[in-house]
Amino acid sequence: MISFFSNVLKCVVAILKGFLDIVFVAVIYVIERVERGLRGVVFVKKIVNSEMIDQYNNRVIRWIEYRKDVLLDRWSRLSSSRALRPKPTETIRVNFTSIMHKISEDKCPLCVEKIFKVTTRFPPEMHIGDRLKRGKCVLFPNYYPFAPYHLVAALPEHHSTLLKDVPIKAFFDCLYASIEFFRKVNEEDKAAKYPHINCNYMPPAAASIVHPHIQVILDYKPTNYLASVLRASEAYFRRYGSNFWDDYLESEIVLEERFISHGDVLSWIASFAPLANYEVIGILRREISDLTELSESEIYGLARDLILMIRNLQNRANASSLNFSIYGGPIGENRKDYRIHVRVITRKRIEPFYVNDRGFMEVLHSEPVISSMPEEVAKMLR
Ligand SMILES: [Zn+2]
Repeated sequence: MISFFSNVLKCVVAILKGFLDIVFVAVIYVIERVERGLRGVVFVKKIVNSEMIDQYNNRVIRWIEYRKDVLLDRWSRLSSSRALRPKPTETIRVNFTSIMHKISEDKCPLCVEKIFKVTTRFPPEMHIGDRLKRGKCVLFPNYYPFAPYHLVAALPEHHSTLLKDVPIKAFFDCLYASIEFFRKVNEEDKAAKYPHINCNYMPPAAASIVHPHIQVILDYKPTNYLASVLRASEAYFRRYGSNFWDDYLESEIVLEERFISHGDVLSWIASFAPLANYEVIGILRREISDLTELSESEIYGLARDLILMIRNLQNRANASSLNFSIYGGPIGENRKDYRIHVRVITRKRIEPFYVNDRGFMEVLHSEPVISSMPEEVAKMLR
């Protein structure tokens, strides 16, 4: 990436010297770079610089890349210099995760002593028992839901277990029970057909409970993200006669810049235009759009691949908080144009007075500013 930038800089200097006998202006629109993948897959970047004089009278050049999402009409901005910003407080090397675990244990509703006493139960007319259980995983209705079917799935014995250390078998039990729940409910309520399985891990990632847990949602409408992706995947299929997700993965494998690895059932790439730092996307290789169509061994593969990637991110990117979502297509539609996929993003580290990673650009302009370069993320996680 450094040599790419230095080449771009040389190119800009040459153009300015050769054609324009002017001093540098404050902002120079530099280059649009389009790289073609398979069929309709296109990677579009616009690179600009911003110049300034620092307090020591040095000319400073900052590079910013605008990158267009490969499928959707949305852009991210990559600015690796943002990672160099000073923090408002000195970072003290204290294990805040461990402190969070200790101070939250007494009142944790998901721990083994409390989970069957204080958590909610399903109403009897659902005919699925008080709570769902599989192995050591317990699922129950979210007391503060934002969808008609919104569950929490937890492993009561694992209060202080880091997400990366959750046993794969236990995580599989949670995923399997969640998908069973989708299947059963959809049989009775066909309009509830948009399932997703999600995680807010630790408070900087919006978790109010530090005990590892996932949130299981079955809804009457797709989320904004899923609706856009379903529409765009369908349009791509109509235009190119091919599944976007296959073409996207194949393109990344050929380019060798952002491809990370093949897992049991998912193949991982670093997101070209990330939604947040260190974003990785896992694409299911089998042609399945509907979570309820996954076999038991495929669900196990999904659990294994996801836990191993989380472990990778927590160990190598030092990520102490994160989010993930597993996006299923509409139940029962067997869509050739869509594919089950997973996104994992890291969030800020757990420490007092941290600077949030969602500012006006992300919240009010829907344009994420990212400091982790995807090509470096892929190298780090390979
Ligand atoms: Zn707990």
